[in-house]
Amino acid sequence: MIERRLSVLVAGLIVFLVFAMLWNGFVRPSHRSARIESAAPSSTLVTIIPDSATARRDTTARQAGQSPPPPTAAPAPADPGTSYMVLLARSETRRRIRASAGYTYLNEVVAESGDSMLHRWDNRIFTPVRVFLGPGTAANFQTSFLDAVREAFERWQQAGVPVRFRLDADSVSAEVHFAWKVQFEMKRTGQTDLTWDQDGHLVNGVVTLATFDPGGRPLAADDVRVVALHEIGHLIGLDHSSDSADVMFANTKVRDLSPRDIASALLLYQLSPGTLR
Ligand SMILES: [Zn+2]
Repeated sequence: MIERRLSVLVAGLIVFLVFAMLWNGFVRPSHRSARIESAAPSSTLVTIIPDSATARRDTTARQAGQSPPPPTAAPAPADPGTSYMVLLARSETRRRIRASAGYTYLNEVVAESGDSMLHRWDNRIFTPVRVFLGPGTAANFQTSFLDAVREAFERWQQAGVPVRFRLDADSVSAEVHFAWKVQFEMKRTGQTDLTWDQDGHLVNGVVTLATFDPGGRPLAADDVRVVALHEIGHLIGLDHSSDSADVMFANTKVRDLSPRDIASALLLYQLSPGTLR
């Protein structure tokens, strides 16, 4: 009887191990990983300042006027362990992005070489992203700046991007923190640092906004709104556009979202995040 129980146990253990191996090799979901890459790259960004004559160029941005590399560049070889179905799905994602050229700028991501990835929040309509938005101590900080940031969030939300943000989180529980500083050393007025997991899901972010432009001029609340529009674009996962008609142009010229900003964000949230290769 004991032997029989033992053999049942052993058989059960073998079945479990085989199942675990299969699960690990084939079935493990490629998303929802909670693991944060220890060396997650940050998207470091830029901005703005409308109607200023000072040249402000994001060092990470493509130079204005420079044409993007041809989108027909052969993709880098994928991880040999990647299944055929996953490669097929990525191929379809690239096709959809290329097909959107003209009315979105996501194709500029595909055109870039290297480890092109789509980053975005996952399923955050019913459990909004928790944001800490508090007052700053930087000179020229005004409480109207907080309303300007709220207005920028509201504008993106009106555009229909399927991610929601709660702006009343405390700093301990928040996934996104806003910080204020007087000025950046570099020629910019805002910066967004993002962290994502191995599958491209955004997990947290820090948005830093300046209270003075790089020329030392104090920013007004409406300037802060425009900077926040741009930085929230990064926060939802957008990269720069090469078109100065878009708010996501590195050196922002416009003061509201363009149809391409909105279409790019909407398409991003129809696609699976992660590598495109
Ligand atoms: Zn930027």
